[in-house]
Amino acid sequence: MKPMCDKVFSRCGMRCDLCLIYRPNVEKEDRRAEICPVFEQMAPGFRADPQTILCDGCNCTDQNAVLLDPACKARQCVMDKGISHCGHCSEYPCLIFPAEPTRSELVQMIDVEKRWTWEQEALLEAYNCKKNMDEFRRNQA
Ligand code: SF4
Ligand code: SF4
Repeated sequence: MKPMCDKVFSRCGMRCDLCLIYRPNVEKEDRRAEICPVFEQMAPGFRADPQTILCDGCNCTDQNAVLLDPACKARQCVMDKGISHCGHCSEYPCLIFPAEPTRSELVQMIDVEKRWTWEQEALLEAYNCKKNMDEFRRNQA
C-alpha cells in the first residue's frame, strides 16, 4: 500500500500511515485480515479481530481516539516529556523504547521458526520504529 499522505509517526516512531489498522487506511481499503495473523504470531496470546481492530494513531489527541495500546509505556513517557515522538528524546534509545526484531532475528522467525512468510514480513515495515527514528535523527543532524 502506498502511503496516503506524508509520514505519520506513532510516539515510538512506527509509521501509522503504513499501518493496516490505521483508521484512514482502513477507510480507504480494509486489509486488516492480512495483518491480524502477523500480529498474533508476533505476540503469542494476542487475539486480533479483523472486523473490529482499529487505531487512530497514538499521537491522536482526540479524547475518543481508539488506540491499539492505550497503556503503552513509551507513549506515556513521550507525553510526559512533552515531545511528539522518541526521535526528539535526549535519552533515545532507552530501555523502554520498543525496538523491532533485528534482520537476523527476522530471518530466524521466517525461515527457521516459520512464524510468518516473507510476504507478511513486508507488512511489518510500518513497525520498524528503530529504523524510522534512527533515520529521523540522521536527517535532523
Ligand atoms: S497500531 Fe501503532 S502504528 Fe498502527 S496506527 Fe496505531 S499507533 Fe500507529
Ligand atoms: S525515554 Fe525512551 S521511551 Fe521515553 S521518550 Fe525517550 S526514547 Fe522514548
